[in-house]
Amino acid sequence: MPAKRLGLFLVVCAPSGTGKSTLVRRLCAEFPNLSFSVSATTRPPRHGETDGVDYHFLDRDTFLAWREAGRLAEWAEVHGNFYGTPLAPVREAMAAGKDVLFDIDVQGAAQLRQSLGAGAYVFILPPTRAELSRRLSARGTDSPEVVAKRLAAAPKELADAPLFDYWVENAELEAAYADLRAIYMAERRRPCCHPDLLPELLAQWDAAI
Ligand code: ADP
Ligand code: 5GP
Repeated sequence: MPAKRLGLFLVVCAPSGTGKSTLVRRLCAEFPNLSFSVSATTRPPRHGETDGVDYHFLDRDTFLAWREAGRLAEWAEVHGNFYGTPLAPVREAMAAGKDVLFDIDVQGAAQLRQSLGAGAYVFILPPTRAELSRRLSARGTDSPEVVAKRLAAAPKELADAPLFDYWVENAELEAAYADLRAIYMAERRRPCCHPDLLPELLAQWDAAI
């Protein structure tokens, strides 16, 4: 019987437009044991986004009710909207030994570090300001005002990058994905994720006496 595994937390942050969603979607698609934490938000859905899959899209009153009821593991106001991590699915994933990936902003990451502690905190860096601006516009999901607001917020978010465990520069997508994947692979090999492995191995020597 394979040894029991404990799930790990992978927290991924980046200035808007860096390519974080592109990278984390791919990682979750490749690894079914990695469960994406679906956030709640008051931001309106973008074209192609599905309620309950990309986000739980809530009106402001409902979001505040969730927050007051203690249903969120963390929450923050980002680019003028509320975002938060529902607690129950995180607990369920933990109980099932699944890994959980959080796509959240730097304020949320700081809160999770306080409440959850252990985890791998990854910051994704855009290659240049010009390329970040180009990606935000090319995505075609936000008005020029929203794009400008997100671009202007980037330096403040980048100032928190030194607080993270890992940096991935998303210049070329394949290389960035290989880096993120390697981080996840390495984190999965930490002894704390495999509490039964060594006792079960050593028990074979006891059994042989
Ligand atoms: P975020 O989730 O960080 O806001 P997205 O994943 O939505 O960013 O990516 C923003 C845009 O940049 C998308 O159109 C995406 O296809 C594109 N993109 C992501 N990574 C790269 C890359 N390495 N090179 C060029 N374009 C990229
Ligand atoms: P977007 O509107 O582009 O989907 O997300 C904007 C920002 O909000 C991104 O930095 C994203 O990571 C962050 N975000 C998404 N979900 C959450 C969440 O649950 N909590 C926090 N604190 N930030 C979130």
